[in-house]
Amino acid sequence: MKHLVLGAAAAALAIGMGTASAQQQFVTIGTGGVTGVYYPAGGAICRLVNQGRAEHGIRCSAESTGGSVFNVNTIREGELDFGVVQSDVQFNALNGIEQFDGDGEFEELRAVFSLHPEPFTVLAHPDSDIETFEDILGKRVNVGNPGSGQRAFVEILMDEYGWTMDDFALASELPSREQAAALCDNRVDAILFTVGHPTGSIAEPVSTCNAQLVPVTGDVPERLAEETPYYFAATIPAGMYNNDEDIQTLGVGATFVSSTNTPDDAVYEVVKAVFENFEEFKALHPAFEVLERETMVEALLSAPLHDGARRYYEEAGLL
Ligand code: GLU
Repeated sequence: MKHLVLGAAAAALAIGMGTASAQQQFVTIGTGGVTGVYYPAGGAICRLVNQGRAEHGIRCSAESTGGSVFNVNTIREGELDFGVVQSDVQFNALNGIEQFDGDGEFEELRAVFSLHPEPFTVLAHPDSDIETFEDILGKRVNVGNPGSGQRAFVEILMDEYGWTMDDFALASELPSREQAAALCDNRVDAILFTVGHPTGSIAEPVSTCNAQLVPVTGDVPERLAEETPYYFAATIPAGMYNNDEDIQTLGVGATFVSSTNTPDDAVYEVVKAVFENFEEFKALHPAFEVLERETMVEALLSAPLHDGARRYYEEAGLL
């Protein structure tokens, strides 16, 4: 009898869920730490998607995560539908190299659109004597949590420079939301973050303890920008924070990705919500000011376009 009751309850639940899912579909977006730009980017996308819920039945939610590499891995496991990931991480995941070495090619990975540029940002404590990127050797440096895009970026850059973690007095692994306080409390001399600008995550330590932006220039970043399709020479413009001069560095792009597991219709609706409310989208974060629809459909996307995204871009005359 007990078994029967349970069975009936489970059946009723299954029928209920079946009905609900016919009308409503849930999609999740993996982002980054709450103080970065990925998290508000995911929030902005979901806000526009959810505005149209009555028509398409999709409910979108953005989750704070460990960042790019975590997002790709979690999409691959089928636990996330979309994610914001760095352009270099997208390329490496697709090809199963660098931080994805041993995972094999991620053939189901699909590009949806590209977002804002992310200059590799080195921010130093004013008493640290760090003026060039090379000056971080021997210092206490936050290299980022495993799973973040900045950690992946830093590891590749260190290889290129021939450095190891032992070359630092301390290599801390704080997530992005904790790094500004660590810098201003003088627990680290520098923090490293690949992030869009302007962002509160840089403005806040700049105003709290007069933290200083440090350029990343020379042969290594120049060569990487030239040799790869996913790095480029980037500038944090003079006056954006407390910097009197342009800060030159190496950049990646934030990109929005999914996989072939996410249904075409869902991807189509998500893309449509962003592209048909584009001015509203751009107004949701100052780092989006530079975005252009024509560029977003092609720049820095190494994985094939998702079929649902392609369908919208073709309809809209963007492809
Ligand atoms: N680029 C960072 C990452 O891939 C995240 C930056 C942000 O949170 O805006 O992990």
